[in-house]
Amino acid sequence: MKLRVDDISAEERRLNFAEPESEMNHALSVGPLQEYRILRPVEVRIAHYRAGTEVFLHGSVRAELVAACARCAEEFTTHRGRGFRYVLAPAALDDHQDDKDEIEYTVYQGDEIDLTPMVREQMLLALAERPLCREDCRGLCARCGVNLNEHACGCRTEAGDPRLAVLRSLSVKRPVAH
Ligand SMILES: [Zn+2]
Ligand SMILES: [Zn+2]
Repeated sequence: MKLRVDDISAEERRLNFAEPESEMNHALSVGPLQEYRILRPVEVRIAHYRAGTEVFLHGSVRAELVAACARCAEEFTTHRGRGFRYVLAPAALDDHQDDKDEIEYTVYQGDEIDLTPMVREQMLLALAERPLCREDCRGLCARCGVNLNEHACGCRTEAGDPRLAVLRSLSVKRPVAH
C-alpha cells in the first residue's frame, strides 16, 4: 500500500487496508520465527497527517496466525498485533538520525510513502514472543515425549530418574560378568 504525500493533509485522516501476507510468510519461513504462519491478509489501521514536509503516522497491525507451541509443538490459531508510530521526513531533509525514541523516524523518497515495509516490520515485531498454546502449557515429557496437556505419563511420580536406574543396574551387573 502506498500513500501519495500530496494526499496527506494537515487534518488527520484514517485509512484501513489489508496487506497481503505471502511476503511476510516467506520472511517467517526463512527467519527465526518459523513457528508462525499468517493465515490471511494483515489488517492495518492507520491515521495520517502532515506538518510541512514531515508526515505523521500512527496505527496498528493485526493478523490471524497458526503457531506451533514452543513447549508442546501443537499447532493452534491465534491473533497477534501491535500499535506503532512513525514520523517520516523527506530523505533529503532527514535530520533525525540521532533520535532514539519510541517513535520511529524514517524517510520517504519522492512523492510517495510505501507503507508495506512498515507493516511488515511491525508485524514481525508483534511476533517477538515465543508462541504458547496456553499460558500454563505443560509441554512434552522430557523422558517419554507424551503431551502432558493430554495425558499423565507417570514418569514424574516414579522415585528417581529411570535413566539413572538403568545405569545403576548396569554398574551392578558389570563386576558380576567379569
Ligand atoms: Zn503447548
Ligand atoms: Zn513421561
